[in-house]
Amino acid sequence: MDLKKEQVEKTVPKKVVRKKSPANNKQQKGTEDKKVTNTNTGEKEKKAKVFNKNRNNNKKKPFPKKTDSKPVKKPVEKVVEEVKEIEKVEVLENQNGVESKEEKMYVIPLGGLDEVGKNMTLVQYRDEIIAIDCGVTFPDDGLLGIDLVIPDFTYLENNKDKIKGLFITHGHEDHIGSVPYLYQKIDKSVPVFGGKLALALIKSKFENGDFSRELPKMKEVKGRSRIKVGKYFTIEFVRVTHSIADAFAVVVTTPAGVVMYTGDFKIDLTPVDGQGVDFYRLAQIGEQGVDLLLSDSTNSEIEGFTPSERTVGEAFKSEFARAKGRIIVAAFASHVHRLQQIVDIAHDYGRKIAIDGRSLVKVFDIASDLGYLKLPKDIMVSLSDVDKLKDNKVVILCTGTQGEPMAALSRIAKNIHKHTKIKEGDTVIISATPIPGNEKAVSNNINNLLKSDAEVVFKKLAGIHVSGHASKEEQKLMLNLIKPKHFMPVHGEFKMLKAHQETAIMTGIPKQNIIVAFNGNKIEVTKSSAKIKGKVTAGATLVDGLGVGDIGNVVIKDRQQLSQEGVVVIVFTINKETGKLISGPDIVTRGFIYSRGSEEIINEVTESIKEKLNGLGEMGVTDWGILKNSTKDIAAKFFYNKTKRTPVILPIIMEV
Ligand SMILES: [Zn+2]
Ligand SMILES: [Zn+2]
Repeated sequence: MDLKKEQVEKTVPKKVVRKKSPANNKQQKGTEDKKVTNTNTGEKEKKAKVFNKNRNNNKKKPFPKKTDSKPVKKPVEKVVEEVKEIEKVEVLENQNGVESKEEKMYVIPLGGLDEVGKNMTLVQYRDEIIAIDCGVTFPDDGLLGIDLVIPDFTYLENNKDKIKGLFITHGHEDHIGSVPYLYQKIDKSVPVFGGKLALALIKSKFENGDFSRELPKMKEVKGRSRIKVGKYFTIEFVRVTHSIADAFAVVVTTPAGVVMYTGDFKIDLTPVDGQGVDFYRLAQIGEQGVDLLLSDSTNSEIEGFTPSERTVGEAFKSEFARAKGRIIVAAFASHVHRLQQIVDIAHDYGRKIAIDGRSLVKVFDIASDLGYLKLPKDIMVSLSDVDKLKDNKVVILCTGTQGEPMAALSRIAKNIHKHTKIKEGDTVIISATPIPGNEKAVSNNINNLLKSDAEVVFKKLAGIHVSGHASKEEQKLMLNLIKPKHFMPVHGEFKMLKAHQETAIMTGIPKQNIIVAFNGNKIEVTKSSAKIKGKVTAGATLVDGLGVGDIGNVVIKDRQQLSQEGVVVIVFTINKETGKLISGPDIVTRGFIYSRGSEEIINEVTESIKEKLNGLGEMGVTDWGILKNSTKDIAAKFFYNKTKRTPVILPIIMEV
């Protein structure tokens, strides 16, 4: 912790220095320069004073940083003052706008569009770039053997010297998962800004042996923290609610305009930690003017409002009241609010908690250390001590909500778990819905658990899970609060982006002001327009063990072919001078056809290849390429005709 504070002090004030430049001649100049004076003191607290422009109230905090700790009076006063300021700004803009050429900035999504995962968005103004989030995707079934998918960092690698900071909205894997990979490509001196929990989770990633332990500089932010980086960028964090503590929207201001990214959000009016959405600030930002809003589209096809996380607590209470034996709960490790509710309810029912699963242990450590998770004294027991307790005094909290094969719940369901065997009277609660693609694995687990006589609670109706993302009505509320000039749906598959576009149109944003983009598009934003103008390299980089990006489509295709069609190895020996076939070909197959039952096919193809090789030998062909391709062609055609399968064929030539 000490280290972090030191870094904060070292990093930030330096970056804050802001020189006058031609780009600042625009409307915001006056305001901005004075803001700098405030922030330049280096004292974090002052950054909250966004509008504390020129008055004498430097000691008075116009906007309390913690919404729960101050009366609401001051913000109201301030809003009145703020309105004046906006009028001033607009007048200036009109005067200047006429003659001066419009400044341009670029928004460049490197991930998160037309997909759910690996979220990353860049904002570029002149020769400066900032990045928002840096996430991973977990591979689908088609990507055999791949551990992770991360964004393609080529553009950032080629523009290393321009990167001024990485800004993290929250600590979910699809937003922080590839941070250590990014820092293998860019300079460690580029600072990371984010909430306390997100930064702690990022730090723990660097402790993985694959990465250099040297951490990038990290700076902790809170709601309404304003950060200046480079010559032109101001980034503000605004508190929203989501399925993890410390979730923020970010507002990026450059001389060219204002771009806001909501981050992942829902609008939870009864948040478990009492830290609600900062509606005041969102409305102010909206009133000041946002040129382009990027908003979370995950649930854009779902009507209504997403229920509050608190409703999950109620559902858990009734399950706990009913359960007679042990309770086994599978939950997302990062969902600290959910974990807190489970802990509290377990405590109320006099049950102790054992945790099972590496990611859960990690989050319990980090979150309880930082005070995000409050654990009643003596509530935790080790997994091996569970048997010493009465069944109705136990909660086993485990990973595996998505049916991940090696996760605790899957091992319990398959009855291969070292400590936990299901018995009659156990209640298993799966507190999540399957992410598309995982349905089969989840339902296998449920079937297996039911076969072992456990009671399984998993249906949405049971209320033991709610989403962390905004449904349609909440998306509308965000659009109404911000009233952006231009809108770009992000964080979702294409159909989700399109649905969000429809919603935005309903709120009054003209269709021509909505950009549905793809990863790599460069969106040019000015005060009067936002449109796609060109593109940069973007896509997926595959991580397989220690290899990052060394696996391309060819390897994946081979793996798919190997897994589905098997492999045929053809070995033969030739005389290296004459090209004459000396021995073979010998054929070995794996995963293709069972050799013993298919001797006839193998014999037949061996003969055809032999004939061909003899023919080539007569002609004195010794070129490996020709020999290999001819062998492959014959075998591939033959096998396809006989079996309609296309195994991977590997000719191996030996020379004597
Ligand atoms: Zn999230
Ligand atoms: Zn996300």
